Amino acid sequence: MKTKITKELKSRLLHAASNGSIIARDILTELRKNTDVSQIIRGTANYFGTKRKKESYTNYNKIRITFTVCTKNLVHPNFPDKDNPQAPWFPENREEIEVSTFVGYFKNLPEYDSEALAYFGNCICVNSKIHVRLYDKMSDIVEAYTADNYSNIAQTGESSLHGSCMRHEDTARNAADFYHNLAGAKIIVAKDSANNILGRAIFWPQVILSNPEKEIKISVLDRVYFSHTFIINLIYDYAKSQGAHLRKLKNDFDSPQELIVLNVIESFGLSEGTKIEDLHMYIRALASRWYKNGAPYMDTFYNVAVDKEGFILLSNKKIDGHIAECRKTDGLAGRNRHICPHCREIHNNSHDLCEKCYSELYKSTKFGHVMNCKIVTYKNETYPSVLFKRGRPTANFNLYMQVEKLYK
Ligand SMILES: [Zn+2]
Repeated sequence: MKTKITKELKSRLLHAASNGSIIARDILTELRKNTDVSQIIRGTANYFGTKRKKESYTNYNKIRITFTVCTKNLVHPNFPDKDNPQAPWFPENREEIEVSTFVGYFKNLPEYDSEALAYFGNCICVNSKIHVRLYDKMSDIVEAYTADNYSNIAQTGESSLHGSCMRHEDTARNAADFYHNLAGAKIIVAKDSANNILGRAIFWPQVILSNPEKEIKISVLDRVYFSHTFIINLIYDYAKSQGAHLRKLKNDFDSPQELIVLNVIESFGLSEGTKIEDLHMYIRALASRWYKNGAPYMDTFYNVAVDKEGFILLSNKKIDGHIAECRKTDGLAGRNRHICPHCREIHNNSHDLCEKCYSELYKSTKFGHVMNCKIVTYKNETYPSVLFKRGRPTANFNLYMQVEKLYK
């Protein structure tokens, strides 16, 4: 008698092995030995299969896979179904077993640690080969953020992908516009063979690390959103293979300065595997003219600042020139300070102009404040003419308009 397994279990084992499970790979090697079941399995167990345990949510199901087995002695004279060829498949003759029990039946396999067992148990829930790739178009980010494209199954524990606050159509649109057109970010996406999304992480190709002596550009993997925990490992491994220098030490939103080195950063003396508790880094935003509006909730570079040269910076800590935070779930940034459209000063006045420019350009009258300067109409709005040079917005006014797009 050979070892018998269901087609579904076979398929799940093949996919789990291709998705990096060592246990799945080892079990397949055992099954390919083509010997009697007693050579590879303990006791009278045989006829292995799987069972789905389902919890339904609005747009997806949480599915856990358990294993099933028949441990009856099919040839025992007292076995009621003796000689019935269907005996091992009657549910009453089958038992449901957990991952570790299933693996434990294979007598030639080593003891696996709890991490390998957990990886296998998690992997077996996805019956497809997972493809991980780096994408660089705005439309790729829209696709990866939109919930309708997510896999309709998730693990029974946390699924940060299905719970992501940026998954709605309008927020996915704003996130993609911001990441691609303003911030110059790319995205790493994990998909199954039917192109359903199981994981994603923003990839920053041009992050600035600086100390008083030098400034270098490195690449950083941001937080991974996932339907199954093993997807995190696949994305980490892929990012490392693509040369990413750093990833978050903790896959969360509240430790933006804690990182781990994936690939050596020689000029800063950081070797692979080094954990860093407090590293400051930032992105000098590309600020393309094609950026239209909106901002995502960000896990790492959520502090927005404007530097002395008038560049928009996204930083993992509050720095000089701080104006806003990307920590809202409605697809817009939260304004902390204003930037003056005339002199570029960052200030806390309730109106957009700084106090000095306001008192120069406006005067108080019996009926309220009026502009005390030449005016220009631009895109259906009236502005002081000092914000224009030869009919076109000044650099400071342009910067102001670019920053305002974060809030609308
Ligand atoms: Zn001003």
